[in-house]
Amino acid sequence: MLTTAINYGTVIDVEEKKQKKLHIGLTGNKITKISDRPLLASRVIDASGLIVSPGFIDVHGHVDGDLYAGELCACQGITTTVGGNCGGSPVDIKAFFDEQEKQGFPIHQAMLIGHETPLRQAVGLRDPYQPAKPGQITLMERLAQKALDDGACGISFGLDYVPGCSLTEVIALAKLCEEYHRICPVHSRLLTDTDIYSLYELIQVARQTGVKMLISHFVYQYCGGLTVPGLQMLDKARREGLDLWIDSGMYTNWTTYFHTPTFDYQNILNNHWQWEQMVVATGKYKGRVMDEELYFRMKEETPRGEAIILFEGYEEEVYDCLVKSYAMPSTDCGAYKKGEGHPQIAGSFPKYFREMVRERKLLSLEEAVYKATLLPATTFGFSTKGSIQMGMDGDLTLFDINKIYDTADYPHLGNPDEKPQGIPYVLVDGVPVVDKGCFMNTRSGRPLRKRPVEKAGCA
Ligand SMILES: [Zn+2]
Repeated sequence: MLTTAINYGTVIDVEEKKQKKLHIGLTGNKITKISDRPLLASRVIDASGLIVSPGFIDVHGHVDGDLYAGELCACQGITTTVGGNCGGSPVDIKAFFDEQEKQGFPIHQAMLIGHETPLRQAVGLRDPYQPAKPGQITLMERLAQKALDDGACGISFGLDYVPGCSLTEVIALAKLCEEYHRICPVHSRLLTDTDIYSLYELIQVARQTGVKMLISHFVYQYCGGLTVPGLQMLDKARREGLDLWIDSGMYTNWTTYFHTPTFDYQNILNNHWQWEQMVVATGKYKGRVMDEELYFRMKEETPRGEAIILFEGYEEEVYDCLVKSYAMPSTDCGAYKKGEGHPQIAGSFPKYFREMVRERKLLSLEEAVYKATLLPATTFGFSTKGSIQMGMDGDLTLFDINKIYDTADYPHLGNPDEKPQGIPYVLVDGVPVVDKGCFMNTRSGRPLRKRPVEKAGCA
């Protein structure tokens, strides 16, 4: 007897990019039956009027074991998240995975080892404006190697947060990553908003090392007029054979922490940012538009920093990125308290389907699903995820393409963590984590540890 059957839905075949009227059966955590007749099972879900998609894979998040962030991801249809991005991750990847395995998590988590925290910190580099010395680079390589042996899916960089790090240390770690056939997601080093050189730097790293590189939240880096020239550079570099990919979100207005070099006073001046472009996303000043007095008060009162949203860019640049064949949608979502943060934590994937498919018709439904599922699965080597085939993992997202809707808004305008509409069922390893639109707090998500000996696939 099947554990679960999903009958009468419209299944997206991401390999053939076709819609098919099929009925899906699961036994435990695997897809074990695909039929043109309705199936019997212990639990039968009527998916009439719904799209049955492989679970969405978010290649760029900062969930990193935070339960509320995991809940918000699940509610927007994400069944696998990649954490440890922008150079920030736990130091001990094995301990992180062991703990997640023990306590359980709503969705699956893959993990990167971060260049800034922990690697630079672990070798005593606390000044973001200091490059690493040769001995420190060797030590960082050793620590990164251990993390990759422990199952990290790659090495992440947040060059914006370590403006002084040298290309030598980036290349050394990227080379190591290439030896392991894993991926380097990179948040580029923007000296200012008009710094397209930061992209040349990454292309150079890819060229010298041959590493597979994912340029993180592309629209957040290059919106403000540089998206199109940036994408043209990537088109050319890819024609040259470089293994370059991008992820990109549905908003141009990005968020990061107040205590990072991004919000250093000099950096604000260099970028010509106006105070009113900044809104506080967390803490006691949540929803306040920045002014000079508040800036200096927060510098004194909140040395650990709060999240700040910076408003900039042109909306069209969101679409320019995501129509590219090498682009995947991502959230950049982080861990915040209830009622705080940026709408990307709850609205990214629903906004992607609403705008890109339903309203603007920039992508076909099949293509949009492919970019959110099979494309990230193959890019990261998650070989049992990303498509609805016999024997694949039971990660499924059921949504109504006519109703899917993001209701989250910026903290000075609404609720940044308001859950979306039109995604009634999300299954993680065959277990409904969202059931009839309600979050069930099930913990069937697993750590996705890369196995040391193989070049693709997950444990
Ligand atoms: Zn980042």
